[in-house]
Amino acid sequence: MNMKKFLSVCAAGLTAIALSASFVPAEADQVATIQAAGKVVMSTNAEFEPFEYKDSNDIVGIDPEIAAKIAEKLGVELEITDIAFDSLIPSMNKGKADFIAAGMTATEERSKNVDFSVPYFNASQSIIVLADSEIKSRTDLNDKTVGVQQGTTGDIYCTDEDGTSDIKVKDVKRYSKGMDAVSDLIAGRVDAVVIDDFPASKLVEKNPEKLVKLDEAMTEEEYAIAMPKGSNLKEVVDQVITELQESGELDAIVSKYIEVEGVESEAEASK
Ligand code: GLN
Repeated sequence: MNMKKFLSVCAAGLTAIALSASFVPAEADQVATIQAAGKVVMSTNAEFEPFEYKDSNDIVGIDPEIAAKIAEKLGVELEITDIAFDSLIPSMNKGKADFIAAGMTATEERSKNVDFSVPYFNASQSIIVLADSEIKSRTDLNDKTVGVQQGTTGDIYCTDEDGTSDIKVKDVKRYSKGMDAVSDLIAGRVDAVVIDDFPASKLVEKNPEKLVKLDEAMTEEEYAIAMPKGSNLKEVVDQVITELQESGELDAIVSKYIEVEGVESEAEASK
């Protein structure tokens, strides 16, 4: 047995001892652990307006507001950590966060590593092109160069990672920020950007003469909150989301950030 193997066997043994000592695996009674700590840690990638973005030193948006309701239900403080989108799941599974609220699409592949809450938002992957582009529909993306946000469902679909895409693009360029993908679109380095619908609208709003969002989306999907597999936090989170939906509070939160049927939102009005 080499040293590395030996160490990993030792580590596995220690974990087994630690688990039997506390009787319940930490993630099985995550709620008690959170309440004992007095705080719940949400992780996100605060580059996803209007779901999460920075407003001076604060991280604000729809997801932090939902997270605040979860913290309130648990009777604890909310702490938010901001990391790269594709590190969110591995980092939570290392114990660095209690849940992920990041406009994250619930996918089957991700469900192998996390448990998702009930969905809280119907979303889609939208297509942004230059105003004079010949790309008018999703199928026009066949054989084109597309910019995406690294590790997102737009990336997964365009690179055809799971082999289910009906569109075969020529090349995918990955960016850590949607904004950088859009800059390359304007500079002519990519033919289109595929990104979640609301960030897409915000990005187009910032460059209304140069960019358009196509009416037809690339895919339809749902956002949900991700938690460690088997955690009892899911019951609490599902309850909070269901209550927010039934009371109409979730719609109120969303409409603070997103214009609904032409009504100017509070966030827009105060700009
Ligand atoms: N909804 C997309 C996904 O889950 C992107 C989310 C994001 O960039 N924050 O992959």
